[in-house]
Order: sequence, then C-alpha cells, then structure tokens
Amino acid sequence: MIEMKDVWKMYPNNVHAINGINIKIEKGEFVYVVGPSGAGKSTFIKMMYREERPTKGDILIDETNLSKIKERHIPLLRRRIGVVFQDFKLLSSLTVYENVSFALEVIEENPAVIKRKVMDVLDIVHLKNKARALPDELSGGEQQRVAIARAIVNRPDVLIADEPTGNLDPDTAWEIMDILEDINQRGTTVVMATHNQGIVNTIKKRVIAIESGRVVRDQARGDYGYEI
Ligand code: ADP
Ligand code: ADP
Repeated sequence: MIEMKDVWKMYPNNVHAINGINIKIEKGEFVYVVGPSGAGKSTFIKMMYREERPTKGDILIDETNLSKIKERHIPLLRRRIGVVFQDFKLLSSLTVYENVSFALEVIEENPAVIKRKVMDVLDIVHLKNKARALPDELSGGEQQRVAIARAIVNRPDVLIADEPTGNLDPDTAWEIMDILEDINQRGTTVVMATHNQGIVNTIKKRVIAIESGRVVRDQARGDYGYEI
C-alpha cells in the first residue's frame, strides 16, 4: 500500500538526505521509523505525504504515484493520509471541536454529518468532554489527542506521526500510544518516527532503521537498537 522504489532525495543545499530506499508497507501495518538525528527520518516521512518530493524514484500510495499527481490533487491525497507532528500544530484561536471540524468543512460536508464525525473521533481520543475548550486550556497530551482526532477525521488509510511523543512526559506518551494502537486496530496503517526507546522496545512492531539516508535494518518485531 505504501511503496518506495529506489527513492533518493537531495536538498537544494546539496545535502543527500535519502540515498536509494526501497520499502513496502502493507495495509494495516504499524511501523516505527528509528535512527540517529539527521539520518533522514523526517525526509522519509515527508515524502510519504508529499511535503517533499524525491529527486529520483517513485513513491506509491496504493495505485497513486506521488511523483505524478498534480498540485490540485494534493488536497485529495492529504485526506487519505493523516499527519501528526511533535508540536501538535493546532489553531490556537479555534476550539477542540473546530480544530477537528475544520478538516472536514473544507470538503463541504453537511452539518449533521460533520457533527457526527467530529464527535466520533473525539470519542476515540477520549476528548468528547473537551469539545468546547481552546488548545491553551489543555495539557500537552490532550493537545496531541486533538491533533490525532483531526488527522483521522477523514478516515485516512494511513496515519503518519513524526515524533508524536517527543514533547510529552512518559505517562502521557503511553496514553498516546494506546490511542495510536486503537486506531491501527481499526484498520489504519500507522507509520511513526520516534526516538522513544522504551515504547519501541515494549510495544513490539516492525522497525525500520534509517542511517545516512539508507535503510540499515528492517525487522518484523524489532528493537530500538540505539543507546540513549
Ligand atoms: P532526521 O529526521 O532523521 O533527523 P532529516 O530528514 O530531518 O533527518 O534530515 C536529513 C538530512 O537532511 C540532515 O542532514 C538535514 O540537515 C537535512 N535537511 C533536512 N531538511 C532539510 C531542508 N529543508 N533543506 C536542507 N537540508 C535539509
Ligand atoms: P461506522 O463507520 O459505521 O461508524 P466502523 O466500525 O467503520 O463504524 O467504525 C468504528 C468507529 O470508528 C466509528 O465510531 C467511526 O466513526 C470511528 N472512526 C472514524 N474515523 C476513524 C478513523 N480514521 N480510523 C478509525 N476509526 C474511525
């Protein structure tokens, strides 16, 4: 469902961030992406939702070749791929409800459908009772759960998370993992870049390790594999 074929990425400053990656991720998998800082993890992930384009090679999401899609079709792609970041990226002037519904309103759904979909995903992240709160009134973990709700409200096939627990304390990080596992169990493929050794070594999943822009390890139930 996600396939990279001989993918290379050189940034305009001549940094060779990705150097020939071939990878396949099947529907429903949960994959950790690990590796040292600067290894190319973010670039690898950004290419999956076409935030960055490869210099060479093909990236396929199901039948869609990301190198070939037109600019005007990118919003459509973004509905099939939800993204969560380390720093949440919520809109501070909008309520929890509005931060999530915003992702649907842009595609002109009818109001009753919007309300049902937003409340359904707020239920998944256990935040129905905070629908009217503003982001500043929430803890970091709650803010990340809003970001997750926003990312899944269009029922994407894939949820991509770049260091989703990076700004959270350990207990809160585990709560976020419970939610990501729940979403994965409902059928969504999850790809998560992380430095969280404890999580990777405890909740065993496929591990793809990237170093100097290459896949150096790909294990079905892997370890984090680096000393902190
Ligand atoms: P990681 O996520 O593993 O820390 P990145 O993908 O962020 O790695 O970075 C890989 C390499 O590409 C690093 O050398 C980084 O400095 C460089 N890089 C990342 N983003 C850019 C950019 N927008 N422009 C130029 N170089 C970049
Ligand atoms: P339905 O779609 O009929 O509500 P499903 O069994 O397909 O029932 O979904 C189970 C629950 O998951 C529903 O409450 C649904 O709204 C919710 N859900 C919504 N979006 C997502 C998503 N992106 N990933 C997983 N579950 C989702």
